[in-house]
Amino acid sequence: MKIKIGMLEYEVKFLDKKLEFDGDKVFGQVDECVQVIKISTKACKTDARIRQTVLHEVLHAAGWYCGIDLPEPEVVALGNVLSDMLYESPGLLDLHRKK
Ligand SMILES: [Zn+2]
Repeated sequence: MKIKIGMLEYEVKFLDKKLEFDGDKVFGQVDECVQVIKISTKACKTDARIRQTVLHEVLHAAGWYCGIDLPEPEVVALGNVLSDMLYESPGLLDLHRKK
């Protein structure tokens, strides 16, 4: 899957392995330098967790692109609420679909 954030195109990779950051297990990671988002399907046990994690990493990437240093708790909260909102509001996605 590809996701365009600003002028950059990120590749989303779903990996059947655990991911770590600074020694901690994580659901996902983003590398802004090479525009790759990795999602651990081993750590994300539900479809909802996968959706939330993808959006979480997208928020990190968007913050980086905009030069905004978003604190982790805010990214967690926004990632979860926005992911659930998009899932429950398909009309909102239709509104944003490229024609
Ligand atoms: Zn994070």
